[in-house]
Amino acid sequence: MTGVLSLLPEGRHGLLRPPPYGGAEDLAGYLATGGYAPPAEPGRLLDRIGAVGLRGRGGAGFPVAVKILAVRDASAPPVVVANGEEGEPGSVKDRWLLRHRPHLVLDGLRLAAAMTGAARCFVYLSDTLAEQAVRRAVAECPADPRIEVVHTRHSYVAGEETAVVRRIDGGQPLPTAKPPRPFEAGVGGAPTLVANVETLARIAVIQAHPGDAGAVAGAHLVTLSGTAGTAAALVEAPAGTHLKVLADLGGHGTAEAVLLGGLFGGLYGPGWTDLPLDHDRLGAAGGALGCGALHFLHPEDCPVAVAAAATAHLAAHSARQCGVCVSGTAALAGTLTAVTRGEAGHATTDRLRRWAGQLPGRGACGLPDAAARIVATLLTHFPDRIDAHRRAPCPACEAGRPHDGSRFTVPVP
Ligand code: SF4
Repeated sequence: MTGVLSLLPEGRHGLLRPPPYGGAEDLAGYLATGGYAPPAEPGRLLDRIGAVGLRGRGGAGFPVAVKILAVRDASAPPVVVANGEEGEPGSVKDRWLLRHRPHLVLDGLRLAAAMTGAARCFVYLSDTLAEQAVRRAVAECPADPRIEVVHTRHSYVAGEETAVVRRIDGGQPLPTAKPPRPFEAGVGGAPTLVANVETLARIAVIQAHPGDAGAVAGAHLVTLSGTAGTAAALVEAPAGTHLKVLADLGGHGTAEAVLLGGLFGGLYGPGWTDLPLDHDRLGAAGGALGCGALHFLHPEDCPVAVAAAATAHLAAHSARQCGVCVSGTAALAGTLTAVTRGEAGHATTDRLRRWAGQLPGRGACGLPDAAARIVATLLTHFPDRIDAHRRAPCPACEAGRPHDGSRFTVPVP
């Protein structure tokens, strides 16, 4: 399957209604959907967002209304940023939205500005086609306040919220130590709401269709990818959809495991089919939904090799600012790669478990946490596969599939 698809019931105003022609939806097309309606009573919209429990779609899943209130109630004039820098290699949703529905994102941005009282707005991105679409949309956007577009270089950490602030302020797109967090002191020192572009798109849809606010807030854009010759797909799915349904939909019916949340949410084996698309339930299972990207592993895949590739990608994208991240993430990746080569010793598993327990929370951003979660879940769900590699590499590892992030990179449909 290719392209985009909505699993939302008919009439639920999915985000994935395609533009009436190829490319980006223009202003006339967006206005025809009811977009850019006057933002009357932003307090009521904020109440609605809080009541339906809209959560951020960038990865952490933080309640959006809480973030908005923190910025709105600060003592200085705030700033709002639409964060379109999609660092997860297996996710395409943000670039898809910016390339094809830029006005939907800009509408959400101006509504966020209205709710926070912000006078300055930014769109932050690296994708060239998305930037062209957004600049065209900004030029014809009828909304206040004025919107500035900031280009960044693409990397795994460039979309982390403190990296966003640092880049907009003229620096490198690298995370900074916290506190302060952007809602306390962000762009130019002002309290700053950094919101993922899918989050903003959902705010715009909730404003236009308040009766469907619950369904819109609960749905997720999910990027499906994997091996077995299937093309990647983007799906909008209702809250609670079982991952097995999504696997079947994406042509991954034979999958035996799944890597959750891009590289952020861990690796799941037996029992993964019963997991639902739900932040809390995935969290309770030791994982994370992250940006909503799902990468399926088929019988011919080796979970140890996939974990080695994922941690190697993270190690390569370390911003090399925090010693524990530089050494710890590289050590995890190097050790897993050694396991795939049949070079693991008897103490390897204990060493991996110890490092995976020590890394979380030790860096300025969540990159080492992601690497640790992949290793911890590999140890939990695939202990036998690690043991088996002590005797000899498995056929997939013997075939020498690349141990880098190339297998996770997904083209935008
Ligand atoms: S934790 Fe790693 S990736 Fe994040 S800021 Fe520190 S060195 Fe960079």
